[in-house]
Amino acid sequence: MKAVVFHGIGDISLDNVPDPSIRHDQDAIVRLTASAICGTDLHMVRGTLPGMVPGTILGHEGVGVIEQVGRGVRNLKPGDRVLIPSTISCGCCSYCRTGYTAQCDSANPNGAAAGTAFFGGPKSTGPIDGLQAEYARTPLAHASLIKLPENIDDERAILLSDIFPTGFFGAQLAEVRDGDTVAVFGAGPVGQFAVASAFMLGAGRVIVVDRLTDRLAMARAQGAEAVNFDEEDPVATILALTGGIGVDRVIDAVGVDAVHAQGGPAASQDAVKQGEAESRTVTAQRNEHDGNWIPGDAPTQALDWGVAALAKAGTLGVIGVYPPNDRFFPLGVAMNKNLTIKMGNCNHRAVTPGLVERVRNGSFDPLRVLSTREPMMNVIDAYKAFDQRQPGWIKVALDPAA
Ligand SMILES: [Zn+2]
Repeated sequence: MKAVVFHGIGDISLDNVPDPSIRHDQDAIVRLTASAICGTDLHMVRGTLPGMVPGTILGHEGVGVIEQVGRGVRNLKPGDRVLIPSTISCGCCSYCRTGYTAQCDSANPNGAAAGTAFFGGPKSTGPIDGLQAEYARTPLAHASLIKLPENIDDERAILLSDIFPTGFFGAQLAEVRDGDTVAVFGAGPVGQFAVASAFMLGAGRVIVVDRLTDRLAMARAQGAEAVNFDEEDPVATILALTGGIGVDRVIDAVGVDAVHAQGGPAASQDAVKQGEAESRTVTAQRNEHDGNWIPGDAPTQALDWGVAALAKAGTLGVIGVYPPNDRFFPLGVAMNKNLTIKMGNCNHRAVTPGLVERVRNGSFDPLRVLSTREPMMNVIDAYKAFDQRQPGWIKVALDPAA
C-alpha cells in the first residue's frame, strides 16, 4: 500500500510499504477514506517534537471502513464505517473506566507510565503507524474506534478525529459554564473549536487572541471578540474589555506553536521596565535564564498572557502541545491568584461520542467552524504547501494515483 513515511527530519515520502495485518486479537484493519495533516505532524517532520523513529507512518486523523477485525473485536465488523480517534485506549483499565482515556495503562507499548499512545507519533507514544496511508492497523479497536452514523460524511467526520474533541476538551478543562467570560489563546483549527465549544458550554463572552487576521475573522464569525496581539497588548486589552477584572476561564490552544509579538523578547523587556504587565516579567525571566530559547518561538508566552488575563480564582485549561522537557510556567502569579490549572491530551474516547451525537442530530455542524472547502490534495503536495504556511490543519486525499 501507499503511505506517508517519516525517514528523518525534513525527509518524508509517499512510499510503497507492506499492508498492515492483524497482530493482536483486538486489532482492526481499516481502509482509510479520509485523513488529514495537522500542525503537530509538521513539528514532527521539522524535529520540533523529537523522537520520531524512521519508518513510522505519519498521521493521527482518520476516517475509514473496517476491512478485518481480530477475534477480540465483538462490536465491529468488516464494512462498518468508523471514526479513528487520534489516541488509543483499552476501555478496561482504571483510567479508561474513569474517562482518562488519553492516560490508558495498556495502549502504549512503552508501558503504563509512558503516557498517551497515538497514531503516527514519536517513539514515546508507541510508535504506532499512522493514518496517512491506504490502510491502518488500529490497536484496541473494540474500545477505540467509533462507529459513524450514516448521515455524518467524511468531511465532517475527519474533524471529529482530533481537532473538534480537543477544542471541546479545552473548554471542559477550563471548566466553562453558563455566563462565563472566556479567553481562547490561539485561533488555529483547535482554537476555533475551543471557541465553538466554550459557547456550547454556555459562555456569555468569548475573547480570542491571535495575530493572523483571517483566523481572527473566523473566530469573530462565531461571535468571539477578536484581539490581535501584534497590534495591542493582549493582557491590557482583555482587562479593559472585562472592567479590569479579567476573564473567568482561559483556554491555551497554542502550545509550542507560540510566536512572539512583534519585537520579541526585547519588547517584553521594555514592558517589564514600564511595569505594564506581570506576565512580561515571567517571559523576560525565561528569556534571561533559558539557553534553549528557540529563535522566533516563545513556548510559554500564551501561558504567561493567559495567567495574567485570568480573574482571581479563574481556571486555565491547557490543550496546547508542550514537549515533556518544557518546565516554565508562571507559578507565582497563578498561585497568588488562586487559579485552577488543568491540562492534558484529549481523552478522545470519553469526549468524542457526545460530539458525534451533536453532529448526527444536527445541533452542531463542525463545517460552520472550519470549512474544508480547499480541495483534497495529494498528500505530499499538501505537506509542501502546508509547510510554507502557518501551521494549521489540512484535509488530504490518500489516492495513490494522485
Ligand atoms: Zn485503558
